[in-house]
Amino acid sequence: MKIGFVGLGIMGKPMARNLMKAGHELFVYDIAPDSVAALTADGAVGCASASEAAGKAEVTITMLPDGPDVQAAVLGTGGVLEGARSGSTVVDMSSISPLVAQKVGAACTARGVEFLDAPVSGGEPKAIDGTLAIMVGGKKEVFDAIVPLFQCMGSSATLTGPVGAGNVTKLANQIMVACNIAAMGEALVLATKAGLNPDVVFQAVKGGLAGSTVLNAKAPMVISRNFRPGFRIRLHQKDLRNALLAAESMKVSLPFTAMVQQMLISLMNDGKGDLDHSAIVQFVEDMAGVEVH
Ligand code: NAD
Repeated sequence: MKIGFVGLGIMGKPMARNLMKAGHELFVYDIAPDSVAALTADGAVGCASASEAAGKAEVTITMLPDGPDVQAAVLGTGGVLEGARSGSTVVDMSSISPLVAQKVGAACTARGVEFLDAPVSGGEPKAIDGTLAIMVGGKKEVFDAIVPLFQCMGSSATLTGPVGAGNVTKLANQIMVACNIAAMGEALVLATKAGLNPDVVFQAVKGGLAGSTVLNAKAPMVISRNFRPGFRIRLHQKDLRNALLAAESMKVSLPFTAMVQQMLISLMNDGKGDLDHSAIVQFVEDMAGVEVH
């Protein structure tokens, strides 16, 4: 297939590469020229705008930071919808507000373009391996047509409802991951302050009920003081903000989510917004005056 790909950051680059490995022809665009150059070196065709990439493609995938970026890249001047052909499909794989996904979806429909919201979970390692979990909102027949592309990037793709449902599912995912990391941070700080080796504590608990994918991925990063992103603090703050806004609109109370969001804002104010979200532990370390290592 001819595929437009807009947004070549930590996630977009490996996802685009996996589509190329499967034999698809990629037309790529990012506002950062270095990112476009990295993909053209691998065989993609570089484009000067999102509109140009979409104009050459049957399917255009976007992988951008947040809702305003998706609106700019899809609906704005030089955006995807200026170039996308009627009958083509736009798949937004960014994690954004479900309400924004519905707005972008409606604009696509008005132009005769199909739309899916299809955010992912798994982070950079699973983006590289092509084993992301993909959660999708949209029409069943559009989903079925795009599944072969999802299979190049992920190990599962689940249709959870109409447009917007993919991002509701992703918000649920992000709440569980954020609260899990915060709990892990408190646990490792307590163990370290008590004089225990945090790695031994990790080895001791990981096979029990506290064991999790989050723990296995993030505890070794904390213990080795490797906070290279991965998933940036500022992006997780954005997800929890979107979760709280969606929850407020439905009169749902999310006290743990609100608390972890405040921790993330504080870390951003400390200049740590571009560290991996495992650096949530640093908020707890500062309060306890101890460093986990
Ligand atoms: P990133 O900041 O590394 O990459 C975003 C890219 O989008 C950058 O290259 C940027 O230059 C580009 N961009 C921004 N605005 C643009 C525009 N208008 N037109 C074209 N390009 C534009 O972010 P990322 O980590 O790759 O995350 C992308 C999305 O995936 C986010 O919504 C994030 O929440 C989600 N996500 C990330 C991870 C992770 O572990 N990194 C995991 C799951 C989901």
